[in-house]
Amino acid sequence: MFTKNFKRKYALSDRGVSNTKKGTFWTVIVNLVVMGGMGILYFLMEAFMKSRTDGEALPPSWIFLSAVAGFVILSLVTHLQQYRSTYGLVYGEVKDMRISLAERLRQLPLSFFGKRDLADLTETIMSDVNRMEHVWSHVLGYMYGSYISTVIIALMLAFYDWRLALACLWGVPVAFALLFASRKMAEKNAADAKKASLVVSDGMQETIENIREIHATNQEEKYLSELDRKIDLQEKSLIHGELATGIFVNAASVIMRLGVATTILTGATLILSGGIDFMTLFMFLLVITRIYAPFDQSLALIAEVFLSEVSAERLMEIQDAKSASGSEEFKPEGHDIVFEDVSFSYDDGKVLDGVTFTAKEGEVTALVGPSGSGKSTCARLAARLWDTTAGTIKVGGIDISTVEPETLLTDYAMVFQDVVLFDDTVMENIRLGKHGASDEEVIQAAKAANCDDFVSRLPDGYGTKIGENGAKLSGGERQRISIARALLKNAPIVLLDEATASLDVENESEVQGALSRLLQGKTVLVIAHRLRTVEAADKIIVLKDGKVAEEGSPNALRNKKDSLFAQMLRLQTEESAWSV
Ligand code: ADP
Repeated sequence: MFTKNFKRKYALSDRGVSNTKKGTFWTVIVNLVVMGGMGILYFLMEAFMKSRTDGEALPPSWIFLSAVAGFVILSLVTHLQQYRSTYGLVYGEVKDMRISLAERLRQLPLSFFGKRDLADLTETIMSDVNRMEHVWSHVLGYMYGSYISTVIIALMLAFYDWRLALACLWGVPVAFALLFASRKMAEKNAADAKKASLVVSDGMQETIENIREIHATNQEEKYLSELDRKIDLQEKSLIHGELATGIFVNAASVIMRLGVATTILTGATLILSGGIDFMTLFMFLLVITRIYAPFDQSLALIAEVFLSEVSAERLMEIQDAKSASGSEEFKPEGHDIVFEDVSFSYDDGKVLDGVTFTAKEGEVTALVGPSGSGKSTCARLAARLWDTTAGTIKVGGIDISTVEPETLLTDYAMVFQDVVLFDDTVMENIRLGKHGASDEEVIQAAKAANCDDFVSRLPDGYGTKIGENGAKLSGGERQRISIARALLKNAPIVLLDEATASLDVENESEVQGALSRLLQGKTVLVIAHRLRTVEAADKIIVLKDGKVAEEGSPNALRNKKDSLFAQMLRLQTEESAWSV
């Protein structure tokens, strides 16, 4: 139970817990060895005093020399062990943490990403893990080791003389009480500082992403002053947090150090009343020079621990998020997609409301409707990128919410508006469609998707790097690459979101040609924007306000009196007449 809480509190793995134990152990040993050094000094002093006062002979010097040499060696060895068990081991832990986070992100449903934006997640993976790295390496072992060794040394001192021990150490619990009393405030400050830093990184990201639009619309000044304001707020929040914590930490440190004064006072009183001899007080004074040092550092570290709890919580939030799970076997009978009374909402408002339709295998089913009517949402749900709020979606008779998303997606090819390309070669970007496909297969798919022409014009052909998210390609070219990917995958279900905006006429007909090859014999669900696609579809689903308003073949719908579809067709034809 304790270990479990400890793990959660500091976002540690099992290995991390065991490393922390090792670090704690070696810190205790190091602190005790240092105290041992004080012991040597004490005995040296005692022997010296006795030789002066009682005329006793000094022990042979080799005894002291070997004691000092032994101390130095022991000190070196234990420090080395402490170093290894804290700093050395933590890097493995950091690596594991980042990998396990990335692994978790892969498994999480898109609904999770709807709630946490990119800057927020990047902040967690980079800066929260960094903060924890510092806590794991510089804080935990050191802090817990200091607590334990102080308790051991306090017991030893109490055994020697409890009155002086009390005079020496009374400040420690008081200092801690003060720090823990300030804990709530420290945690709130830490959360505020985190929020402020997220706002800044969000702002930075937004500015960089939109730099073209910002220049084009002369909004530089507005954006920069907004960013300035956010950075000012972050600075204020950081200073406020540091200052508040600093005041408490320093106050605690001063209170603890008052122990020096009380030890001297108590010691002097006891010597005068004959309660102790000078050497006892001398020993306490020696110990005092060392005993506060690790504790002092622990006080500063405790502030960091409070801060780190916000980061640990954010990390655990990702680790704990519910992943979309399901069976790893998916053997559907055919690939008809059936929506049965499907409702869905992203947050509160219903986006789909009781949607029922079937997209048959071997047919093209076109989703049409005004912008915001829920077409893209239907396509996302069909691939279980999100789970429905109510109702079921079946593929080949199997409820897709029972199938593990990665398994399910092996049967899907998706060509969406926002094509995602990686800063790699054309060849590798297409090969993503099918793991392990040969170069010939890739080139064949590229040819079928009408990519060959523009690729051969690139400086290194298929070996050309295409820049971050395909920055060096035009909209149509990017889309053809994503079609080539889908062709290579040759999955039985194709989800297609047509985009007309980025295509010129020549590109459009090339993309159309590529598409018709992709769609043959598949279950095709297409978010249709072009008249041509709509007319060529086998079935049309007209969505309006998240409901199926009309359904049928293009002909049937066109001829139906007052149909929404006929109205839309009219509008589109008029628009294209205008644009000509
Ligand atoms: P369409 O594709 O027909 O234009 P969408 O399915 O994209 O419509 O959107 C339907 C509604 O859902 C819209 O009101 C839109 O604002 C909302 N919506 C879409 N995506 C999200 C999202 N990720 N989070 C919250 N709301 C969303």
